[in-house]
Amino acid sequence: MKILVINAGSSSLKYQLIDMDNEQVLAKGLCERIGIEGSNLQHTNVGRDEKTKIEKPMKDHGDAIQMVIDALADEKIGVIKSMDEIGAVGHRVVHGAEEFADSCMITEAVMKALEKCTPLAPLHNPPNIIGIKACQKIMPNVPMVGVFDTAFHQTMPPKAFMYALPYEFYEKDRIRKYGFHGTSHKYVAQKAAEFLGKPAAELKIVTCHLGNGSSISAVDGGKCADTSMGFTPLDGVPMGTRTGSMDPAVVTYLINQKGMSAADVDAMMNKQSGVQGISGVSSDFRDLSSAAKDGDERARLALDMFSYQVRKDIGAYAAAMGGLDAVVFTAGVGENDAAMRAAITDGLEFMGVKIDNEKNSTRGTVDISAAGAAVKTLVIPTNEELMIAIDTKRLVEGK
Ligand code: ADP
Repeated sequence: MKILVINAGSSSLKYQLIDMDNEQVLAKGLCERIGIEGSNLQHTNVGRDEKTKIEKPMKDHGDAIQMVIDALADEKIGVIKSMDEIGAVGHRVVHGAEEFADSCMITEAVMKALEKCTPLAPLHNPPNIIGIKACQKIMPNVPMVGVFDTAFHQTMPPKAFMYALPYEFYEKDRIRKYGFHGTSHKYVAQKAAEFLGKPAAELKIVTCHLGNGSSISAVDGGKCADTSMGFTPLDGVPMGTRTGSMDPAVVTYLINQKGMSAADVDAMMNKQSGVQGISGVSSDFRDLSSAAKDGDERARLALDMFSYQVRKDIGAYAAAMGGLDAVVFTAGVGENDAAMRAAITDGLEFMGVKIDNEKNSTRGTVDISAAGAAVKTLVIPTNEELMIAIDTKRLVEGK
């Protein structure tokens, strides 16, 4: 079965066509500037390693999906003969709230439930919904599945997901921890179990998704027990431009004492903070590393704050689960930044986490643990698109 994976943003749309018989990506690409002047599609025929850029106006997501399908079935740049070869579509959806604890087939009722989740993700869910509707219009007979960033975290117990606010804020407004990057945490936790040759049910794993946005999860017996992102993806460790956790009273102080508006504080915490805000150099960890090497103290501080917070989360989640079998690093920083992995794990020997410096400099899926370390430390490249396709296939086949 060939599955089209769609990740629709407000003015962009990413796609991959995956042949699930061998889990190979046939084609992938990106529509940019949807509804804005300069719309274009960048398409890669993976088998031929051929990239094509097509500039053509796309007034909405419907136009974008049509262009994607035309490119996929194109005689010259395409990978299928016609749209009929697409067996199912898997859609990434950011927020499934408490409505969705697993991926699900998209039905009328599901679309209604999705609309209900929108106030919790006002920036992300609307384009996801528009993407689904546009696909339904063009491919009315193709089964579609929604895969939620929050779903994997729905197994967290109330003691982990509740905030100590008056209870009615949970009852009425569903204010609680949801967690994000769930598709990635689920994928790498499953891969870690396969790699270790043990059933997921027997493993206690801390998964560290470290990218532009970062989150850490405690995965106990294959289920999420806790995670560092919260009600929104602002919580947890410091990120590229996001604060991560801090005393919430800072927000009221900035509003009451410094006269900042709520909107300004929100923008500042999301876009001007994190390692960018601390260093004043960049949100990109490669820039920070080279600045720190050149003696930039604030870049060094930003990197130290990041590794310290991730290390604390690993310790906290080992305590929460009452043990630890493996630590997994993934995403842009987790997969590529050996120095950061070394800094994070430095000092965790007391709990059995120790890495081998030589193994730590290898790439791909790799066990970087030192010989004899009680806890395995693994690097596993994440693949959210493949996880979406796997879930889509599972549901379409009725499993
Ligand atoms: P996103 O959250 O946008 O999906 P990614 O998972 O792609 O992010 O991660 C992006 C981050 O990965 C950037 O901050 C970048 O600095 C970092 N990164 C990518 N390659 C390297 C590398 N070789 N060394 C250090 N950091 C890297």
